[in-house]
Amino acid sequence: MNKPQGFQKFVTSGGSLIFRITLEAFPRFWVYAYLVQSGENLVLIDTGSGSELSNNGILEGFTRVSAEIGEEIRVEDLTHILLTHGHIDHMGGLVFLKEKSHALVGVHELDVQTISHHEERLSLISLRLNQYLCEAGIPEDDRSQMLQLYKFTKAFFHSVPVDFTYEQSDMQCGPFSMLHLPGHCPGQVAIRLDDYIFCGDHVLSDITPHQSPERLIPYLGLGHYLESLEKFNTWADGYKIILSGHDLPIEDLAERSIAIRKAINTRLDQCMDFLCEPHSLSDLTSHLYGKVAGYNALLVLEKTGAYVEYLYQHGLLEITNVDELEETNQITLQYRRVIERTNSVISPKEKTNVLI
Ligand SMILES: [Zn+2]
Ligand SMILES: [Zn+2]
Repeated sequence: MNKPQGFQKFVTSGGSLIFRITLEAFPRFWVYAYLVQSGENLVLIDTGSGSELSNNGILEGFTRVSAEIGEEIRVEDLTHILLTHGHIDHMGGLVFLKEKSHALVGVHELDVQTISHHEERLSLISLRLNQYLCEAGIPEDDRSQMLQLYKFTKAFFHSVPVDFTYEQSDMQCGPFSMLHLPGHCPGQVAIRLDDYIFCGDHVLSDITPHQSPERLIPYLGLGHYLESLEKFNTWADGYKIILSGHDLPIEDLAERSIAIRKAINTRLDQCMDFLCEPHSLSDLTSHLYGKVAGYNALLVLEKTGAYVEYLYQHGLLEITNVDELEETNQITLQYRRVIERTNSVISPKEKTNVLI
């Protein structure tokens, strides 16, 4: 899915050094961790997935940085580990790193439970996911397979204590400042150091970041995501480069944000077109994405669920089989559009920019 970029060094306007370390989080799926040397602070931003390959990648990254700066730097020397968000490909390496270092771990408070009460959280979300897939119209066998895969991808991890939340430190940690950007993940943040910004998966160069419905976990959802896109553009003012969790560095945030909004808008229109007749979430997902297998089947169901939830929240859809819903909760919900969609997720200002 993603294109990995190799090891790279960046220097901020304040003279801090940033090293991009590329990790194979899952087979053929790459993520970045960034090692930052800023004054007395040696900070790792994100940690990979915690798989053996990913953990070895971190050690190789430290060796590479040591060679680059002509001084040995070890995991034991880390002062802080700052997480952009609580998804497994970004926080899974914490278990391994905490065994080796006393670095203070910081995260947004809405992702604390994912890290410090991982097992309980996984059980709770699996329960909600099962009900969600049932309502989506996924047969029982496929559902249990999807749930198994969901749990399997998070099996490397066990609960790790968090040392501080960004709220407790006033969205600041030494020279780093943070902005909360819910949507892709409840506790997603951007972290700024001088003219560089680490944004996790909030904005990616090549794809629209993954979306899930808020009914699975509060502060997910398309509505939050679109608000966060707007907020991020304003806050990022004066940036030079945005370093994300996957793909290429972003040098034109406004352009990228417009492209993401346009892609979301197109999907919302496709949903509305198809839902001129009642359909389940499962039917709509097949219509939008075709036949998808394995873990990706769950991912596309989450994405479609986020679009449908957004349209439903905005009064554009209705459920046509409410009668059945009152009798049992083991039914497949059927959605149909109520009215034409006239609003757009692209603001008038951005539309002008597109035309120019
Ligand atoms: Zn993510
Ligand atoms: Zn990611």
